[in-house]
Amino acid sequence: MKNILVFGGAGYIGSHTVWHLCENGYNVVVADNLIYGHAEAIPTDVPLEHVDLIDANALGELFAKYTFDAVIHFAAFAYVGESVEHPAKYYRNNVVGTLNLLEVMRIVGVKNIVFSSTCATYGEPIYTPIDEEHPQNPINPYGQSKLMIEKILSDYENAYGLRWVALRYFNAAGAGWNIRESHMPETHLIPLVCCSITNGNPINIFGTDYDTPDGTCIRDYVHVMDLANAHRLALEKLEDFSGVLNLGTGIGKSVKEIIVIAEKVTGKKCPVVFTVRRPGDSTRLFAANKKAHEILEWFPEYGIEKIITDAWMWENNRRF
Ligand code: UDP
Repeated sequence: MKNILVFGGAGYIGSHTVWHLCENGYNVVVADNLIYGHAEAIPTDVPLEHVDLIDANALGELFAKYTFDAVIHFAAFAYVGESVEHPAKYYRNNVVGTLNLLEVMRIVGVKNIVFSSTCATYGEPIYTPIDEEHPQNPINPYGQSKLMIEKILSDYENAYGLRWVALRYFNAAGAGWNIRESHMPETHLIPLVCCSITNGNPINIFGTDYDTPDGTCIRDYVHVMDLANAHRLALEKLEDFSGVLNLGTGIGKSVKEIIVIAEKVTGKKCPVVFTVRRPGDSTRLFAANKKAHEILEWFPEYGIEKIITDAWMWENNRRF
């Protein structure tokens, strides 16, 4: 399994995975609509095809041009708030687009896919750490769209023999190679903390009255390079395993803890403003990752200090 199509490979997690696959001897082709992706984020010798998942004809041409053993599918809209305001956009791109991709794979006989899913498919947790058996009740269209695809993948396995792994990421963060987290607009805590430290504009801390030891929300931050590695391991296991896996460290950190660690790592003060809760935020999300240990032999290598160190380093070396 050496010839890999990475759809959405110019995005944040996608581009890190592309670099990782190239370093491990895979032949990679990237397809991306470049709405949120960055062409500069992928190695210059990797073919980049400007294709939108919604364009079924272009997908057909892509699969006629190259021979793929497997697809890694990152291409999705991923702003929770926007998904509530514009569910049509999310269901069309994330669900209809994925159906287009699966259809062309079925027609040409590509039977392997690794899919970017999310802990947002669980919704408000009823227990933590969250294992893969936790009920899935997503609270926004983004999470719904990802859950729908998980179900579609399972049905395609039963009917067409598709091999699939859906990786449910917790909070991806950090940076590697010459790339960094670069969303437009940026809504994620760690890059915003780095920005505030750099430009002196305070970061909003959304809610200090949560039922946690310091009153702020707890999340499970996982290094993007550990995620990249997990995608390669998932590809290698597809023959033996189809199903879902959590990707998190199993360790939760609060927003206030993140600020303290960022100040320690950078040696600088992070200006903060305490504001009201952000709608839709869960109090506490962290993963049980035993299944990924057992099936992929995936053990996250990097902790929160390394995540913030790398995010900070690239904040100061940004190219795009
Ligand atoms: N957060 C915050 N200020 C910000 C951005 C995020 O306090 O400017 C908090 C947010 O409320 C959540 C945590 O940081 O508790 C992680 O948010 P992020 O958007 O990074 O990831 P999410 O868990 O929402 O996917």
